[in-house]
Amino acid sequence: MEAAKQGIITEQLRRVAEKEHRTVEELLPLVAAGQVVICANKRHKSLDPSGVGAMLKTKINANLGISGDIKNYAEEVKKVELAVKMGTDAIMDLSSHGNTQPFRQQLIRECPAMIGTVPVYDAVIHYQRDLSTLTAADFINVVRLHAENGVDFATMHCGITRETLSQIKGGHRKMNIVSRGGSLLYAWMTMTGEENPFYEHFDEILDICREYDMTISLGDACRSGCLADGTDNCQITELIRLGELTQRAWARDVQVIVEGPGHLAMDQIQANMKLEQTLCHGAPFYVLGPLVTDIAPGYDHITAAIGGAIAAASGAAFLCYVTPAEHLALPNINEVRQGIIASQIAAHAADIAKGVPGARNQDDKMAAARQKLDWDAQWQYALDPETAQNLWEARKPNDLDTCTMCGKFCAVRSMNKALAGETIDIL
Ligand code: SF4
Repeated sequence: MEAAKQGIITEQLRRVAEKEHRTVEELLPLVAAGQVVICANKRHKSLDPSGVGAMLKTKINANLGISGDIKNYAEEVKKVELAVKMGTDAIMDLSSHGNTQPFRQQLIRECPAMIGTVPVYDAVIHYQRDLSTLTAADFINVVRLHAENGVDFATMHCGITRETLSQIKGGHRKMNIVSRGGSLLYAWMTMTGEENPFYEHFDEILDICREYDMTISLGDACRSGCLADGTDNCQITELIRLGELTQRAWARDVQVIVEGPGHLAMDQIQANMKLEQTLCHGAPFYVLGPLVTDIAPGYDHITAAIGGAIAAASGAAFLCYVTPAEHLALPNINEVRQGIIASQIAAHAADIAKGVPGARNQDDKMAAARQKLDWDAQWQYALDPETAQNLWEARKPNDLDTCTMCGKFCAVRSMNKALAGETIDIL
């Protein structure tokens, strides 16, 4: 951000311009103003830099990492390989068990995608001490450790404060706090009587971020965890605070992403995007869904993709994927795949709607391939070629220029023949 403010074109900016089909001159003022961020820790040498901003291609993130119940790092590595192969822009390691450092270091050594973490989770397992015994310095030291490791963006729940305790205790929320990091900080503040260290020592955190060029993802501890809590006092008070912290970070040339809801009814999504853009001064919005209904466990990749598409078309820059296992279990590799595809569809649909340059090219090529009944070309332009091809081949038609849906009643085939003046032989 400092380079951009001084008009210096970095190698990262040049690469982002190339990937986004933009000129460096177009991007430079957006990075300087904080409206586009390039999450690129100085120590992440394997990174292929990406830009995050509402006017760019919508980016997607896949959450990975082990839990105390399922601690198979080999499986997580397979998920990382899949996520990278499928073109995920970012991977967040949310590991919450054991020594997390080797996996984090492997990610940073090998992964071209942006790497994000949530240091507050790691604090408890890093020190192997109970939450109430941790000090503000302990939390900040873990932020430093992640920055030194090369993490590109770190989620920090800086906007939950002691004021939030009384809002939540007021009992107006159905789901209280559903953010893992937010709930830990709430519990820590309750047990110690102290202020949130990520809020109180924000300047020290900025020093660390500035030193390593680590972007802050301002966590939404008070995101709505059900439709009933959407856009309430607690969520908006935190968002106002995140807007203030955004300006403090920008004054120190630290890049910021703001995290957002959560569960939201469809009619509230656009207003929430507008509120974030206004209250957080155009900082890129990173939404966790939003899930548009609470009643579809097992299918929340779909509820999130509906919300994500509306959010991104209305100004969100970055979508965190949701898998079918959301609310239920640590996702397996197949669920990770479904989450990524659902999120990619939402992001792509939004990019077409908001006119991101070149966004519709692949759709137009797919339409041409469909019109020619050119199946090989259709696999080439499909978001998930393997699934598409397997479906067609598993139920192959007698006439290979159709599919078993309509066979000789194929509308495309009939029209092609009719327009060419040929006879249409159905029987
Ligand atoms: S057979 Fe029907 S579904 Fe299949 S390609 Fe032709 S029109 Fe489309």
